[in-house]
Amino acid sequence: MRLLECELFEISIPTRRLHTWATSTADVGSGYIIVKLTADNGIVGFGEATAMPEWGGDFGRYFGESGNTTRVVIEKHLFPAIYGMDPFDIENIHRKMDLAIRGYNYAKTGLEEAIYDIAGKALDQPVYMMLGGKCRDGIPVAHSLGIMEIDAAVEEALEAVSEGIKDIKVKGGLDFKRDYELVRKLRSALGPDIRIFLDANQAYPTAKEAVKWVGRMDREFNLEYIEQPVEGLEQMRLVTKLLHLPICADESCWTIADALDIIRLSAADYLSIYVTKAGGIYKANTIAKIAQYAGIRCNVNGSGEFGVGNAANLHVACTARTATLASVFPVTHIDGMEQTKVAGHWYKDDILTKPFRYEDGYLMVPDGPGLGIEVDMEKIRKYSVGKGGNNSMVIRMKEEVSM
Ligand SMILES: [Mg+2]
Repeated sequence: MRLLECELFEISIPTRRLHTWATSTADVGSGYIIVKLTADNGIVGFGEATAMPEWGGDFGRYFGESGNTTRVVIEKHLFPAIYGMDPFDIENIHRKMDLAIRGYNYAKTGLEEAIYDIAGKALDQPVYMMLGGKCRDGIPVAHSLGIMEIDAAVEEALEAVSEGIKDIKVKGGLDFKRDYELVRKLRSALGPDIRIFLDANQAYPTAKEAVKWVGRMDREFNLEYIEQPVEGLEQMRLVTKLLHLPICADESCWTIADALDIIRLSAADYLSIYVTKAGGIYKANTIAKIAQYAGIRCNVNGSGEFGVGNAANLHVACTARTATLASVFPVTHIDGMEQTKVAGHWYKDDILTKPFRYEDGYLMVPDGPGLGIEVDMEKIRKYSVGKGGNNSMVIRMKEEVSM
């Protein structure tokens, strides 16, 4: 098989409510890139780049992407580098992409997910079978409360729990007192059995202050863990050393090298793995294996993926033995086929013909070949950003045109 054609669609889907956090003010789901790849035998695969300009690594180590930068990077650098390659030649595909342009992991992910989708379809096997097989059939969904007003957040958490959610993620980091008050009210409303964890998105000013306030919240209201309280491995290491509560690295953990640094420095207890931050399924799976053999728990999260990226997340999460923490995955909804009112309900619609099954707080892993999804091209057209919903870009290389 050879990779022959690449088509890109820039997609925006309306959200149920605005979802922002301490370091990102734009709503999710705006201008993500859907990649459609076609092989020479006609097999088609899809991938997704959840391009977010404001999302990045510690101290600008990794830069945000927008729909426009992702399109240019794929068109000018990445697809020309891997054109004609065999989709099963995955290590070399990554090497070519990494040599063609440094960084841009979201763009690389969009292409690589589509390559896995093609390879799985060619084998008539789900992608998780190419990663070592399934450890679990469903992934527990953590419901994420974005930065929002306290009473509205408590009300939303109660509704999500009534729909099966057992893990509530609180976005905070901007104001210790606000976070304390929100966690206090949540614990009082939700009772002792719901797991609550806080994500400060690097925004607490110093390790010592984070330790003081988060330690107090944990002692009084029992937190499950805290995600990325501060920026940078030195500060993270200090919080991890001084706090009994487990610390999860998110912004600090993008690549395989980052995961190794965190383990070497004992800069966190848990890793938040994204398919996108790592640069694709292959590398995210490698981080999950490193975590497993380092004795580190993890979860697979994301930036509010549509159905294509969500499928990739589910395949990686179900094969990762120590990915036992709940994941912040949207519960994929198709307009007219809503599965929940609030729980994990990010988008009003999606670009798949069928949602992943949601059962009592779990999102079930699809078992069909490849990513196990069917993309609805009508929905792609409907949610394409641009004039008349027709902004697709087809990349054909010269060699192919002359054939
Ligand atoms: Mg996070």
